[in-house]
Amino acid sequence: MNDLLIMKFGGTSMGSADRMRIAAQICADAQKQGAVAIVVSAMSKVTDLLLSTLRAAEEGDQEGVRENIRTIEKRHADTCRELLPPSRQESVLASIHALMEEFERLSSGILMLAERPPRSVDEALAIGERLCATLMAACLDSSGTPAIAVNARDVIVTDAVFGNASPLLDLTREKAMKTLGPKLHAGVLPVVTGFNGATVDGKPTTLGRGGSDFSASILASALDAKELWIWTDVDGIMSADPRLVPDAAVLDTVTYREAAELAYNGAKVLHPRTLAPLMDKGIPVWSKNSFNLAAPGTKIVPQAEGNGPRAVTSMSNVALISIEPASPAINGAMLMGRVLEALGRANAEVLAFTSSSYRQSFCFLIRKDEVDAALERLESELSLELEHEYVHPIEVDDNVGLLAVVGEGMAGHPGLAGRVFTAISAEKVNIIAIAQGSTELTISIVVRRDGLERAVKAVHAECRMGVRG
Ligand code: ADP
Ligand code: ASP
Ligand code: MG
Repeated sequence: MNDLLIMKFGGTSMGSADRMRIAAQICADAQKQGAVAIVVSAMSKVTDLLLSTLRAAEEGDQEGVRENIRTIEKRHADTCRELLPPSRQESVLASIHALMEEFERLSSGILMLAERPPRSVDEALAIGERLCATLMAACLDSSGTPAIAVNARDVIVTDAVFGNASPLLDLTREKAMKTLGPKLHAGVLPVVTGFNGATVDGKPTTLGRGGSDFSASILASALDAKELWIWTDVDGIMSADPRLVPDAAVLDTVTYREAAELAYNGAKVLHPRTLAPLMDKGIPVWSKNSFNLAAPGTKIVPQAEGNGPRAVTSMSNVALISIEPASPAINGAMLMGRVLEALGRANAEVLAFTSSSYRQSFCFLIRKDEVDAALERLESELSLELEHEYVHPIEVDDNVGLLAVVGEGMAGHPGLAGRVFTAISAEKVNIIAIAQGSTELTISIVVRRDGLERAVKAVHAECRMGVRG
């Protein structure tokens, strides 16, 4: 569908009745140019609250569960009353109540079991997006833009990795055409839930936290959209997280590869997997601010206009794992191979990896919440070597943070790495490990956690990132 525009509205852009009205106006304006489908996140903070309710259920805190359910239902019901004309409210309030009953049933199951099966968690969390889509579709419809809420369970087909599912694109394309095609042809705007999908046999899944961006890019690819616009609460993709670096500047354009590296290395503005489905097709993506419609936003494009360091990102929820052979009899390369395989089996993602050649020791960075699973696999894989002290005990340092400098063509800037390291050292921040990918698009630097923010500011200033357009 080559005149289709997909737009995604994040949690803050859906955070209140006023925000939904503004989003509805954006949709109505966009529809004047051609067909539009939108993807919505849950209202801001709702997914966190749903998740903490499920945790309370697991811990047997029945009163906590009830209290949260009341809070969530009230937030949506209040929004409904503020948003819709009285004649429309009754049926939407009934839908909200039915969804909350569904959530209550799932929570009760978790309470009874005293555990949270990943499958039930996914089904329960998707209710945040379903509540929001119900409200947003009603808002559009009642303001003159015919619209219908669509559960992405009926559109996005995924594998069965609950909590972090990946789309099966061919099946999704088929399903998306079947479910959304007729609505679009009839001039009805589909309001699709972000974040969720279902396996081939219909089991509900989610795409990982912040996954609504990914939902939107999956749909844009499946439906061959002309563009994807991601509406959020900042003016676009910036040279650093504006919450950390107040003088961060909006970038007019970034390449797909830069955007993907930024997202992967912690820039929350995009979910790390968003760009993959779009790159091959070259579908243009815009990051735009629903709180500042006058700002043009950032366009994500295939080719770089300039080169050099564009932005700096950071991640603090990471841990560095070090492995060192204790005996020269150990073949370092084989050891690394086995360790990487064990990490793969533990579903742990290696964010950076460095090795020293003489002692064959190596270290790698993974997310903190993947450490337990990774250690379990590693200790079982290396049990003999550890027992016979051929390998030193595995060391985990979680008092670290990752900083990444990203930009196309950084290789053409001799001395850049030296300047970056000097700027970090001048802040008396210890550099623990350094890694540069073969594409030379990213320099990753592991530093002490308490120096991370200072290091980010120092690198941003040294590379004059706030000055570039
Ligand atoms: P949404 O709810 O719309 O998906 P998110 O909170 O997930 O929004 O992402 C937007 C936030 O990402 C911004 O408010 C900003 O604080 C943060 N952010 C982190 N790094 C960057 C960056 N490099 N550029 C822009 N925003 C960033
Ligand atoms: N609501 C989900 C989350 O908070 C997905 C998203 O907002 O993108 O993780
Ligand atoms: Mg987000």
